[in-house]
Amino acid sequence: PAADVDLKEHIRGIPDFPKPGILFYDISTLLRNGPAWKAAMARLAEKVRPYNPTLLAGIESRGFLLAAPLALELGLGFVMLRKPRKLPGATIGYDYELEYGSDRLEIQADAVTPGDRVVVLDDLLATGGTMAASIALLRKAGAAVPAAAAMVELTFLDGRRRLDVPVETLVAYD
Ligand code: IMP
Repeated sequence: PAADVDLKEHIRGIPDFPKPGILFYDISTLLRNGPAWKAAMARLAEKVRPYNPTLLAGIESRGFLLAAPLALELGLGFVMLRKPRKLPGATIGYDYELEYGSDRLEIQADAVTPGDRVVVLDDLLATGGTMAASIALLRKAGAAVPAAAAMVELTFLDGRRRLDVPVETLVAYD
């Protein structure tokens, strides 16, 4: 049964990706296992539902793989937060600093409206920089953000300290 699934058994650590010294937690193996993916989505649904979102947002690209099916499960719409120049029409962007250089996320200008409560999802929370930028972008676009959620959390990086909303995660590595 779904309650017995140990999600960690379905997530693998790949050494030296994307560069030497980094241990990359890969959820591909979880996604390719039907019962494990289903169990993960059911657990995320229980954690996200109490925030009463009106929409879910996914961060390109693995965040889409959680936010879209979760939105269907909760009967909600889904919006994309994307890398620059991917979205057609008018967009709103938010630039943020990385360890080396900077990056940018964009949303379609009419994707959210004032009054929307958007929970934002990604596969993994590391330093929290990506999630912090996503929350800032959603607010810039006019939405409230009651919470953020991710499947995996690297607790040793303390990403949630950078966020001013509650963060729901399913699996932690320290
Ligand atoms: P942060 O901005 O440092 O929190 O990094 C989180 C972002 O980088 C998310 O979009 C993740 O998909 C990606 N990421 C960082 N580390 C990993 C990892 O070990 N596995 C999968 N994705 C990762």
